[in-house]
Amino acid sequence: MKSYDYVIVGAGLFSAVFAYHATKMGKKCLVIERRNHVGGNIYCEKKENINVHKYGAHIFHTSNKKVWNFVNELVEFNRYTNSPIANYKGEIYNMPFNMNTFSKMWGIRTPKEAKDIIDAQKAEIKGEPTNLEEQAISLVGRDIYEKLIKGYTEKQWGRDCKDLPSFIIKRLPVRYTYDNNYFNDSYQGIPIGGYNVLIDKLFEGCDIELNVDFNKNRKKYMELGDKLLYTGTLDEFYDYKYGKLEYRSLRFETETLNEANYQGVAVVNYTDRETPFTRIIEHKHFEYGTGEKTVITREYPVTWQEGMEPYYPVNNEANQELFAKYKELADKEENVLFGGRLAEYKYYDMDKVIESAFMLVEEELQ
Ligand code: UDP
Repeated sequence: MKSYDYVIVGAGLFSAVFAYHATKMGKKCLVIERRNHVGGNIYCEKKENINVHKYGAHIFHTSNKKVWNFVNELVEFNRYTNSPIANYKGEIYNMPFNMNTFSKMWGIRTPKEAKDIIDAQKAEIKGEPTNLEEQAISLVGRDIYEKLIKGYTEKQWGRDCKDLPSFIIKRLPVRYTYDNNYFNDSYQGIPIGGYNVLIDKLFEGCDIELNVDFNKNRKKYMELGDKLLYTGTLDEFYDYKYGKLEYRSLRFETETLNEANYQGVAVVNYTDRETPFTRIIEHKHFEYGTGEKTVITREYPVTWQEGMEPYYPVNNEANQELFAKYKELADKEENVLFGGRLAEYKYYDMDKVIESAFMLVEEELQ
């Protein structure tokens, strides 16, 4: 007799959504987590009564009504709209790329003036863009590429924009309106009380073991459940037998300041190459905090090495090929399910993680 229907490895959002549905259907789940808390990268730590996004800023946004309704049934969301600022050597621009950005860059007023400039600049790209640099120039022209994209992207990814896939830059909207909303999605916000409220509700009814490394205790945990859901990295699951997948990692420097309002906005991107961090987050602005102090975090991109948190997959061709080899092994597993941004090696937003978990729920539990 196995003690659990599912042993779930990793306590992030994907696992949480699956566990929630499984528990609701009377399945018994054991969740094991390497860290000392649940919630994966959306976990927040309270400092000065501010929810500090410990693993980087997370802003929930989606156009999927089913996903939006699902999370709203569990926690209320505030009206936060992400409107970051870019700081290029002291020059301030609105993000994403919109009429406010174009007006500041070129001293122009109308969409037609902006279009004319961008059209003239993007003429240097002939044919379909083949990398991030060409894609960026053909979207917003060279001036904006040089000041707001090149330095930031090369810091973030640790390689030349010519060696990066173009889809990364397509995440950002380009608009010929005076609209500073970073996302195009229909719904957006931050859970009132923080992401931990959402996570705790999703894991209600599960047994949870923290500070446990599955890969060091495989046999024991495999034997505890009928099925295993693994949400860690696939290459680690297979002992890196074909080699290591590449990730970018991050280092965070968090500081409490004796002032109420440090930068006037939650996110400031430092888009020059010389500043070693990519952005400063002022967490209180995610929830309209009014306390006397503030907490800020500088975010430094670093090359991932074993032992660090793998944040961003490097989805270039070589890595995709390597991933496909691991995926082939995973597809052959009988009682092991895989999912989430790590096991799928995807640059996922939270709503897409939830959609992916819904799909597994449908296949596995219905
Ligand atoms: N990006 C940029 N300049 C910015 C912000 C973003 O060039 O000021 C590019 C960069 O290549 C980055 C990508 O857009 O990797 C996606 O940015 P997003 O804000 O979606 O990244 P995330 O918040 O997921 O780290």
